[in-house]
Amino acid sequence: MMGTLVEVVLYADKETAPEASKQAFERMLVVEREAHASEESSPLYRLRKGEGVVIEGDLALILEVAMKVSRASAGAFDPTLGQVVYLWGFGREDPRIPGPEEIQTAMKNAGYLGVPEEQCCPEGLGIWFELGGVAKGYAVDEAVRTLQEAGVRAGIMNAGGDLRTFGVRPGREYWNIGVQDPENPQELAGVLKVREAAVATSGDYQRFLEKDGIRYHHILDPATGYPARSGLRGTTVIAPDCATADALATATFVLGPERGLALLEGWDDAEGVLITNDGKILTTSGIGEGGIKFEKR
Ligand code: ADP
Ligand code: MG
Repeated sequence: MMGTLVEVVLYADKETAPEASKQAFERMLVVEREAHASEESSPLYRLRKGEGVVIEGDLALILEVAMKVSRASAGAFDPTLGQVVYLWGFGREDPRIPGPEEIQTAMKNAGYLGVPEEQCCPEGLGIWFELGGVAKGYAVDEAVRTLQEAGVRAGIMNAGGDLRTFGVRPGREYWNIGVQDPENPQELAGVLKVREAAVATSGDYQRFLEKDGIRYHHILDPATGYPARSGLRGTTVIAPDCATADALATATFVLGPERGLALLEGWDDAEGVLITNDGKILTTSGIGEGGIKFEKR
């Protein structure tokens, strides 16, 4: 689902568990459909065409998080990069390196400052939203809510590394979350210990194409339209909800070590583990306090 493997672990009565997980996955499918412009009748498709569209429901909530992180990161996170992302074709079968003119043209239609404040896009304003950097986290949040409403006591919902833990695991104080080593993703750089939290990771090792020894990954710098080269290879963000953690992880990756750390330090309730190009591990000041620990491997 959502281009990745989604996995759920839950603690519940035998009768509750199968039905609860089924409902959670169904809820995620609805969010996935809502967050993509796959069908011509979908709001995101109609927004591209410049049709007047009222933005409501899941889409409004996803966009609210996206725009909050866009503003706080001065556009390092930008949900309007749809045309540029489409050009590169990450996630499709035929990704390629576009030419500079193509990127220039596609960039003309991007810019988070052009998104109207009202939850309604007027006619004629064609915006290519691309919500891949936040929607997965939102889907995880909704899945967890569905599980809890169905009577699940504790669990972990994991969409390919964007995850959320809830409740208390019997006999355990913490949930252990492995943080991959970007240099060698089969190995761990360390282990996070969290109570109830969302944890999301962005990295240059998840989706990329390589040409002439250069790696082109799927997180773009909205200032250039090219993959961000900020000095980071991986960012892991811990926050109360996964939509925010997801968007903040992408933003921090684009901002780089210094500005990325500053964004997280300035954000209420967010912490992070940043891994630099030369393998250094940087953590925000709240790690080690307030129920979040990080143990390097
Ligand atoms: P993943 O999808 O692997 O978890 P991210 O959460 O970092 O990784 O999201 C990357 C996706 O977000 C890209 O595939 C693209 O669709 C979109 N994206 C790329 N660059 C940006 C950006 N600067 N701001 C917002 N979204 C972006
Ligand atoms: Mg993200």
